[in-house]
Amino acid sequence: MRNRIKVYLGDITKLEVDAIVNAANRSLLGGGGVDGAIHRAAGKQLLAECKTLGGCQTGEAKLTKGYNLPAKFVIHTVGPVWRGGNNRETELLANCYRNSLQLAVQNEVKTIAFPAISTGVYGFPKQKAAQIALREVANFLKNNKQLKQVIFVCFDNENYQIYQQGLDEI
Ligand code: ADP
Repeated sequence: MRNRIKVYLGDITKLEVDAIVNAANRSLLGGGGVDGAIHRAAGKQLLAECKTLGGCQTGEAKLTKGYNLPAKFVIHTVGPVWRGGNNRETELLANCYRNSLQLAVQNEVKTIAFPAISTGVYGFPKQKAAQIALREVANFLKNNKQLKQVIFVCFDNENYQIYQQGLDEI
């Protein structure tokens, strides 16, 4: 289990994995943060495919090709906006991880990288978000042998420390 989960500090768009996950918004038409970085690196064809998808509900996930990215697929998921914690934020963030993993497995993905969904502009507390992410991935991996590697990509040192500590506690 532990050797199937890795924490990495850097830019998710550079990773050579089967799929990277995008912290998108419900329109799926691009945005700032990791979403903007993924669209820039993938090229215009990504936006063209996203336009055909009809958006995505919070907690759900949709798959596209990776185009100019080293990754074969992008799995777009929409994290919840943090509104104080009493608006199903925990459940919805957990759904993002579960639904992304399920979609990955359906598409024969063996290696996948996640950003820290909702912890940027959407304001989810980082520690809490990391606990949810690690718990959902660990639970999924227990019941799934197809996924060989799940990488948590941290873009800032704070998230990197939090994830490393969280991983030690699994
Ligand atoms: P959200 O709207 O879901 O909060 P953001 O893109 O604002 O999405 O932030 C989600 C996380 O992605 C943040 O921790 C942010 O630091 C991180 N991030 C931003 N750019 C990148 C990148 N190129 N690679 C990996 N993570 C990134």
